[in-house]
Amino acid sequence: MTTSSPSVAETDLGRKRRARRIGRALTDAHPDAHCELDHSNALELAVATILSAQCTDKRVNEVTPKLFARYPSAADYAGADRTELEELIRPTGFFRNKTDSLTKLGQALVERYDGQIPGKLTDLVTLPGIGRKTANVILGNAFGVPGITVDTHFQRLVHRWRLTDETDPVKIEHAVGALFEKRDWTMLSHRVIFHGRRVCHARKPACGACTLTKLCPSYGTGPTEPAAAAKLLKGPRARDLAVAAGVDPEMVPTQAVGAEAP
Ligand code: SF4
Repeated sequence: MTTSSPSVAETDLGRKRRARRIGRALTDAHPDAHCELDHSNALELAVATILSAQCTDKRVNEVTPKLFARYPSAADYAGADRTELEELIRPTGFFRNKTDSLTKLGQALVERYDGQIPGKLTDLVTLPGIGRKTANVILGNAFGVPGITVDTHFQRLVHRWRLTDETDPVKIEHAVGALFEKRDWTMLSHRVIFHGRRVCHARKPACGACTLTKLCPSYGTGPTEPAAAAKLLKGPRARDLAVAAGVDPEMVPTQAVGAEAP
């Protein structure tokens, strides 16, 4: 069968080819894709990722400059004054639980890893506050080890693309990983998440202003009219995304360009 018209009868090879095409289209659409949590080392990324639970990356990035300056090492988190740490991270929500996680993470790193973030998945997942998703973010972005990050956006989009029916994040990670070259996993994750935040939203995806229409079995989940879809694009490159999809960029309202990608 041809891979340009995905259907339930698609072969494994057809799915793989379509997945690779989706990957290339995402590369073209999101040349700016990157880890949206500001950090300059593995510890900062681990801390930012813990803070990002139930919170936007933008809000986390507003909090972390002061936090990282005040607590530059694992030992600083281990010995942190609880009230002070809570106040600093309060804007990210669930600040009591997150304070617990950061303090325990600092203590575990000091006790078991000489204060350093380890570079192996099996070690990372033993640390307080760090699950498999966070571990993959850290490996991919701080250690250059390819990893797939199955967050809510990634999960939604690979289901819409019917790349897998799996619902368990670890199974999704393996199923999608098998469709792409390992070296591409980290950037693929960023691009999928970028697309989920800027184009293929949970409630109203911008189908009529999406570059993946021919590759996506869920085309039509959101408005297909270019004018309606263009209004749903988000972020500073919203007009570029419209152009890439063959939509008049003038249809993208100014507030869409200024909108925060969730
Ligand atoms: S066509 Fe619609 S459902 Fe498919 S990826 Fe694009 S925005 Fe998402």
